[in-house]
Amino acid sequence: MKITADYINTLNDIEKLPFTTKNDLRDNAPFGFLTTSLEKCSELHASSGTTGIPVTVCYTPNDIDVWSEVMARCLSMSGLTKKDVFQNPIPYGTFTGAFGFHYGAQKIGALVIPSGQGQSERQLKLMKYYGTTFISGVASYATRLSQVAEELGIDLKKLEVRNGLFGAEMFTIGLKNRIMDSWNMDVHDIYGLTEMCGPGVSTDCDQHNGLHLWEDHFLLEFLDPKNLEPVDLEVEGEMVLTTLTKEGMPILRYRTRDIAKIYDQKICECGRTHIKHSTIKGRSDDMLIIRGTNIYPGQIESVLMKYPEVGNNWRMIINTEKQVDQLTVEVESKLSLSQMESMELEENLKKDIKSVLVFNPKILILQPKSIVQEGLKAKRVIDNRKRE
Ligand SMILES: [Zn+2]
Repeated sequence: MKITADYINTLNDIEKLPFTTKNDLRDNAPFGFLTTSLEKCSELHASSGTTGIPVTVCYTPNDIDVWSEVMARCLSMSGLTKKDVFQNPIPYGTFTGAFGFHYGAQKIGALVIPSGQGQSERQLKLMKYYGTTFISGVASYATRLSQVAEELGIDLKKLEVRNGLFGAEMFTIGLKNRIMDSWNMDVHDIYGLTEMCGPGVSTDCDQHNGLHLWEDHFLLEFLDPKNLEPVDLEVEGEMVLTTLTKEGMPILRYRTRDIAKIYDQKICECGRTHIKHSTIKGRSDDMLIIRGTNIYPGQIESVLMKYPEVGNNWRMIINTEKQVDQLTVEVESKLSLSQMESMELEENLKKDIKSVLVFNPKILILQPKSIVQEGLKAKRVIDNRKRE
């Protein structure tokens, strides 16, 4: 069916429009979804493309302004002011992450240190040297920095860092509390995706009970991923987003595959009226089916983080043995444990995780720093099952 502008008169008419999926973007990559000429665009970013063709997005100067604006709102909501020294330990490159934070922090007028990717020791030294007060990144990198700080004998609480805004990967309230505690800082959670602009779609306010989504720039629908019918408030659904102000590459009804729920609240305690959604439970693509049970890695992390003996690094490994799925959860202990302590922890974790999974997982308690994390984000799932 050919849709013309006459078909669209109210917001509800959006249901007449087709969805956009990641495959649509890939099939038309790199520039097939542009609605303006390349000449009018001033910047290009792309997703990593680790699982296929990267998604490329082009921005007009106005798109960059909008991106800076939504990022400034997210940063301001997390406490950033022009008095702050803002360190940005995210790789600068075609990824959207570093530039989004950079533009937003500059719009607020903070002093930006574009420290870029990795080199944990250097990052910590810069924090100390320049008196960094605010950091960005992914949550697992903050935990990696705390590990390195411990090795170097740097007391994180003595640094000036008092705020952090983290995103780009699933992290549970349990891990968030741990970061807040070890750094003595407040931690906010940011959500976004390359297809919309990059980071900057939503962030949690000081109430820390949901993320405000900028409805003047993104139209949100919450749908049941199975039948694509709208779900009620407070019910989990897939976030489907439409850009309202983009020029270079506007996108209609993008299926994010991210699962969350909308809170039933008109005005937040913080005074903001923008709609509030829960933290992302997981991408619907991340959902694992193990022995017929649906499971998100976050559910496992929530159990693990309740135990003070458990370190911040963990992963789940799934194998098939005699045609049955076997799940092993590898967990680093925070400190070296005796054999007795290790066995006790193993038993307790097994019992608690079983109550989530319904079947018995295998638990391996490892020495601190046994799991080597490569790349920017933590790899929590290794699925070795053969797909038919
Ligand atoms: Zn609020």
